[in-house]
Amino acid sequence: MLQIKSNSMIIKLKQNISDHALDLLLQKLNNHNTHYQFSKKENTVVIMKHANGILDTIKKQNIAEEMIPIPQPYVLAAKHKLKLKSKIPLSKNLSIGGKEIVVMAGPCSVENAEQIEEAAKNVSASGGQILRGGAFKPRTSPYDFQGLGEKGLKILRRAADLHNLSVITEILDPRDIEVVQRYTDIFQVGTRNMQNYALLKELGQVKKPVLLKRGMSSTYKELLLGAEYILAGGNKNVILCERGIRTFVTETRFTMDINAITYLKHETHLPIVADPSHGTGNATLVKDIALASIAAGADGLLIEAHPKPKESLSDKDQTIDFKTLKEIVKKSKQIAGIVRN
Ligand code: PEP
Ligand code: MN
Repeated sequence: MLQIKSNSMIIKLKQNISDHALDLLLQKLNNHNTHYQFSKKENTVVIMKHANGILDTIKKQNIAEEMIPIPQPYVLAAKHKLKLKSKIPLSKNLSIGGKEIVVMAGPCSVENAEQIEEAAKNVSASGGQILRGGAFKPRTSPYDFQGLGEKGLKILRRAADLHNLSVITEILDPRDIEVVQRYTDIFQVGTRNMQNYALLKELGQVKKPVLLKRGMSSTYKELLLGAEYILAGGNKNVILCERGIRTFVTETRFTMDINAITYLKHETHLPIVADPSHGTGNATLVKDIALASIAAGADGLLIEAHPKPKESLSDKDQTIDFKTLKEIVKKSKQIAGIVRN
């Protein structure tokens, strides 16, 4: 008989499992105070953490077609043979994690309606699908521009709708989830909040997708455990984002960790987006690093672009123009066509 050592397990239930047997199993899991998730659609029970004895009971019940131990602590994020790749719906006609490269672009901050309308028009014309822009900004200095708040969200939504784009915007505080949710399609969690567990837990309770940026000094395991917080709350729509890390290099703002993209592709079924803007901090480098990220296996890009890059209120040094964005979109598709076949 299979010797089970791992404390976490995917249980593929037998096709013909009776309602009674299933009820019994779920009752036992509840009684044992086990962390688990049951999926009717996938006919699986994922046990994230269990008390001794529960697996023996399952074996005795003879209801499992297969039991797959998951050795990693990020049980729900881990890739396994029943879940190699997740395709996450972003809006009506758009998903990420499939064949299509998804480009999210726009300015660092929402500054005014004119700027965002111009940006939306150009993102769409460049072949991007999602408009980005921060309305709540996590600035290093409390005296820097902090964003327009709800007014900014309204501007983003209107411009995106006019140009048939989806919206991604940053959420800083669990208290803002309700208002941000009214306007955005995707929540962005920034590098400074990757380990804000109160925020991650709340985002586990929403249905809209969450793009989780890697902390600038975080390991891959810490990123995946951050994602696990959201998944454990029941929100399956998590996208990871590599946005550069702190290294000894002083010539660029951060160092884009291309390794992370490929490593994560092997380790998780979640889609991965690359942010070459923050990853380099330098507009001259953004295009090449964007393309390198696609070659490494990224499912999408998050890029800062502005109608007048040099006039950006935040992150102007890394902000590109729309001519460059158009080239990035075109070449990304070509590179994806090569590396994905
Ligand atoms: C941003 O996307 O503008 C941003 C603040 O990103 P990060 O959290 O990666 O610094
Ligand atoms: Mn920025």
